[in-house]
Amino acid sequence: MPAVRNVLIVGGGTAGSALAILLARAGVMVDIAEIQPSVTALGSGITLQGNALRVLRDLGVWDRAAAAGFPFDSLGLRAPDGTLLAEFPGSRTGGPDLPATLGINRPALTAVLADAVRAAGARTRFGVTVESLADTGDAVDVRLTDGTTGTYDLVVGADGIRSAVRGLIGIDAVPRPTGMGIWRVQTRRPAGIERTDLVYGGPCFIAGYCPTGPDTMYAYLVERARPRDAVGDKVAHMRALAEGYGGPWAEIRQDITDPERINYTWFESLLVDRPWNRGRVVLIGDAAHACPPTLAQGAAQCLEDAAVLAELLLAADKLGQAVFDAFMDRRYERAKAVVEASLQLADWQLNPVPDADMPGLMDRINSLVTHPA
Ligand SMILES: Cc1cc2nc3c(=O)[nH]c(=O)nc-3n(C[C@H](O)[C@H](O)[C@H](O)COP(=O)(O)OP(=O)(O)OC[C@H]3O[C@@H](n4cnc5c(N)ncnc54)[C@H](O)[C@@H]3O)c2cc1C
Repeated sequence: MPAVRNVLIVGGGTAGSALAILLARAGVMVDIAEIQPSVTALGSGITLQGNALRVLRDLGVWDRAAAAGFPFDSLGLRAPDGTLLAEFPGSRTGGPDLPATLGINRPALTAVLADAVRAAGARTRFGVTVESLADTGDAVDVRLTDGTTGTYDLVVGADGIRSAVRGLIGIDAVPRPTGMGIWRVQTRRPAGIERTDLVYGGPCFIAGYCPTGPDTMYAYLVERARPRDAVGDKVAHMRALAEGYGGPWAEIRQDITDPERINYTWFESLLVDRPWNRGRVVLIGDAAHACPPTLAQGAAQCLEDAAVLAELLLAADKLGQAVFDAFMDRRYERAKAVVEASLQLADWQLNPVPDADMPGLMDRINSLVTHPA
């Protein structure tokens, strides 16, 4: 019998959904408390690296995700005027039988995961969150904001970078801004864009794009952070920044017309010291570690948390600190390395140094995450 019979997962994002699928499929009773009123249909695109795809395959959703997104196997480097400087084979961090990268619209990924959560038998309760948690040693007594109560063997805080569960268990880590802000826009995919091309330099630190489907993609521009309440006319601002880039950006710029398709946010980071649990309550995903997307590893690390925790819970016959320590032994240093490398890459943009070895650092992380977590 696994170490847990019933589990409450707070937050039905990438990490929470993945854990719910793996546990419910193995016969554990899983409730998800999701604060949003329904499956979210909002969001830009996301770049998923091979090690994320490996977990999607273990979840049984790889074929659907691949069909809903745009898999590719190389990475381009361009000058601000659009000149192609170099073309690299993508790093197949999920193994040789998976592509290096999948671009996908976030709502499409959410829908694929939500269907699998339902099919596995987990129950999602929308529009609620946790009001209180009382760990009695053998279980956790939970009160939700709709007044209902429950008793669970384990509560998992998968409620993102601003996790409420983190506060409820007395962990006071908070996200830190990195000094960068990102503009993202969903556009039509111009013919010929079949992979991510990055530009380092020009008016922004980074300009890039990622195909997400037969005729969709998202493009992004990373600049110094501006006050969140002073972003002004999003279309005008993003078009003005895009003016500084040539090649495929000329066509992308023409498609920056709808403020509803533009999102501006800061880059932030977070790393909760080990252990990520207090008694029978544990954090996973962005609730425990979050990084600026300079390596596009955030969601991959969340998925790996879910896969490792599920494996340990299903293999153990008793839930004690040993399970959480084993979880930390497999997850803490790896997630920390990704957070630190992502921050280093951001810092090299903000504060350039002559000997910055960006390709070397990226290679080291790719080698690290190629080994299954
Ligand atoms: C600008 C930007 C670009 C990024 N680009 C990439 C990329 O290209 N590739 C990549 O791999 N990663 C990327 N990331 C990181 C990636 O988005 C995150 O690492 C990942 O989505 C985190 O998943 P999660 O499930 O831990 O949290 P979330 O996705 O934040 O999900 C948390 C869930 O919990 C719910 N919730 C929140 N609070 C509560 C509460 N109190 N009670 C109940 N439910 C709650 C939320 O509604 C949500 O459904 C990017 C991040 C940013 C900010």
